[in-house]
Amino acid sequence: MSDAKRQLHRRVYPLRVLGMGLGSVVVGVVLWERQASLPGWLYLALIALVWPHVAYQLSRRSADPYRAEIRNLLADSALVASLVPLMHFNLLPSVLLLTLTMVDKITTGIRGLWARSLPGMAGAAAASAALTGLHWAPETSMPVIIACLPVMALHTLSVSVMSYRLIRKVSQQNQQLDALGRIDALTGLCGRGHWQEQAEATLRRHHATGEPACLVMLDIDHFKQINDQHGHTVGDEVLRALARIVLSNVRATDCAGRYGGDEFAIVLRGMRLDDAMVVAQRIREQVQALQLHDLPTLRFSSSLGVAAADHRHDGLRAWTNAADAALYQAKAAGRNRVSAGAMPTLVPGVQAPLM
Ligand code: GH3
Ligand code: MG
Repeated sequence: MSDAKRQLHRRVYPLRVLGMGLGSVVVGVVLWERQASLPGWLYLALIALVWPHVAYQLSRRSADPYRAEIRNLLADSALVASLVPLMHFNLLPSVLLLTLTMVDKITTGIRGLWARSLPGMAGAAAASAALTGLHWAPETSMPVIIACLPVMALHTLSVSVMSYRLIRKVSQQNQQLDALGRIDALTGLCGRGHWQEQAEATLRRHHATGEPACLVMLDIDHFKQINDQHGHTVGDEVLRALARIVLSNVRATDCAGRYGGDEFAIVLRGMRLDDAMVVAQRIREQVQALQLHDLPTLRFSSSLGVAAADHRHDGLRAWTNAADAALYQAKAAGRNRVSAGAMPTLVPGVQAPLM
């Protein structure tokens, strides 16, 4: 059982004390107007002054405080309904108190609790009518209207504050989920989806302003062997160490992401091919020199393909294909090297797409 469920009775207790207290003032004014007899007053005093504390103790001492508190909430509704015949169906306070007790059931967030409260309410109202006799006096006087105002105002405000807190919490949790979705859990680099959004924006900028940009694709050489010989935990450590190298070689304005299993993709903004090749070579050298803390003898290398953004890249796919082709060249040429991608070739007579 969640902590929120276990603590339900503690949250409800002060609200019940306040609600029953203010509600009983309204009922008290009606009873005073119709000069009710002592049993009516005693019954109201029991509900207002004794019941909230009894309910709290019942839940607190129960082996299952959550279920006990649900029973208490249902009892609240029945008690409120029993007051309606006692007030001779005085219209405003009857409707107000019945509505508020229903709202209280709904705002617990417990599915169908309000519907479950209906039979108890009907039974309690019928029993109360049988005991007090059916009297019909629906008119509401000005003193009763005034007595209703604090209940209306405070209840509405407290429900609004609760809703506000809930909305803030949900929006914060959505932001956290969003942030989690952007980040690759293993390496801390951008996840593939977020990386693609950033890369597309960079390519659009290149098309719009001509600002240079380069895409680097990196793949670990013979990574399967590392997994097979040393296990996936070591493989994961290699991926994390490699991500640290990548991050230390890019600027805050660049975007480094994990593209697939052992493949990384980096967008270098504002950088021409020559400079991007230098960055890629530096990464390759650092990967080759890398020593894992727990396995200092393990050596591995990486292959990298670099492609400059070009006006003939009509979309991210064309740009990544160019970097992938360069990476393939580096693999084919013996691995542990950097290759530059060739510009897309034009079919004679066909106009290159301009975005
Ligand atoms: P090549 O030099 O041709 O790239 O050879 P390779 O063995 O690296 O081949 P490839 O790039 O196809 O291998 C990728 C491997 O990465 C296969 C898969 O088992 C492993 N892998 C993918 N994701 C993870 C991961 O999150 N953790 C670990 N430890 N291994 C992963
Ligand atoms: Mg590989």
